[in-house]
Amino acid sequence: MFRHEEHKQSRYISISRNEHNISRKNISENALKVLYRLNKQGYEAYLVGGCIRDLLLGKIPKDFDITTNATPEQVQKTFRNCRLVGRRFRLAHIMFGKEIIEVATFRGEHSSQDEQSNVAKRSQTGMLLRDNVYGTIEQDALRRDFTMNALYYSVKDFTLRDYCGGIKDLQNGIIRLIGDPQIRYREDPVRMLRTIRFAAKLNMTIEQATAEPIKELAPLLKNIPAARLFDESLKLLQSGHGYKTYLLLKEYHLFEQLFPVIQRLFTGNNNSYLEKMIEQVLKNTDYRIDHNQRINPAFLFAAFFWYPIMEQTQLTCVESGLQFHDAFSMAINDILSEQCQIIAIPKRLTSIMGDIWRLQLRMKKREGKRAFAILEHPKFRAAYDLLEMRASIEKGELLDLAKWWDEFQHTSIEKRISMVNQLSKRNKRRAKH
Ligand code: ATP
Ligand code: MG
Repeated sequence: MFRHEEHKQSRYISISRNEHNISRKNISENALKVLYRLNKQGYEAYLVGGCIRDLLLGKIPKDFDITTNATPEQVQKTFRNCRLVGRRFRLAHIMFGKEIIEVATFRGEHSSQDEQSNVAKRSQTGMLLRDNVYGTIEQDALRRDFTMNALYYSVKDFTLRDYCGGIKDLQNGIIRLIGDPQIRYREDPVRMLRTIRFAAKLNMTIEQATAEPIKELAPLLKNIPAARLFDESLKLLQSGHGYKTYLLLKEYHLFEQLFPVIQRLFTGNNNSYLEKMIEQVLKNTDYRIDHNQRINPAFLFAAFFWYPIMEQTQLTCVESGLQFHDAFSMAINDILSEQCQIIAIPKRLTSIMGDIWRLQLRMKKREGKRAFAILEHPKFRAAYDLLEMRASIEKGELLDLAKWWDEFQHTSIEKRISMVNQLSKRNKRRAKH
């Protein structure tokens, strides 16, 4: 596909404009503006990372990231619409309405002096707590995660620069960490999740040395802030390849680190209600993304934790003799507080999840005005979708209940009244017997 020209002085492979398929037509105009402006001010600037990888694969990039030799402060001086963000990793965000172009300064090697002066910092496990040492483009390439993510595109001459053999790996479908995998995973354990995410999303093979340390190092995810793991978990599960990602996360012992309250109820045979639910909700989510339908993380997580909550509720009822409803509320609190220590699911989502769960109980009681009130609930549709999934898993009476609600929501007001009346009659008959 490409003719490679080795650059003797700086050890990179240069691919000129007529030897690669990257066209300015497919690059965000705002990103181009930023590149041109930085170049005009005398700075080096490149498109880098996922956008180049995706363009080479013929995919549409999600966002366009830029790297430059200008410091964040110099970038800020060059653009009025610029905001500096991040502590661990300082970046400039250039805002164009809804689109944000991220501009990072070339990262460099850390020296022990840097680590003393606080621009860089490492924890006891080798994790980088701060990574703000600036360097050259060569050093920047070596600090990136995978070879396929260390490709740089310049609008000065439209060439592509490959410092780590990323083009070859991309052509062969190989995910390869740059450098020593043990050290790189210890520096940032989230890289283990990124390995899995890209393997699933790009349908690529994880190179052996990159795969090998993951199972052993998976517990290092405990050191990652819960807010960052929330963002990562959505990227893992809601990127259109959630089911495949989940299988890989399990295989590499990462799922148990992210979702211990779920993992400990797994049977290993994939035949429990819980295992079936996770499989189904992820497949549904993948399908919806593929068909451009809306998805909501609150629904996904509501499905994930439904059976752990039920299990905990039953256990509390037996052990403490509490009423079902009280035990249920306690279980919701317990499961959420344990899970949120690892993955910080924000309040706006947990409150929707609570609604979806409580509606599962309410949907059983339909007499009088109840069914009409439930139908008006803003989360009725999500609650019904969960009921339907539970029914298809548990079968039995739940199938009748789901069918009733299906009919009720889609029929006329007269028919609804008669459906509720029939229920009342049936209940009276039952009470007599
Ligand atoms: P996508 O945006 O499609 O999920 P991406 O590769 O662009 O994939 P980003 O999180 O946007 O992912 O990161 C942009 C680039 O920054 C990456 O391609 C990689 O070069 C670098 N990068 C991101 N996260 C890390 C990390 N944890 N360690 C090292 N380099 C990273
Ligand atoms: Mg990106």
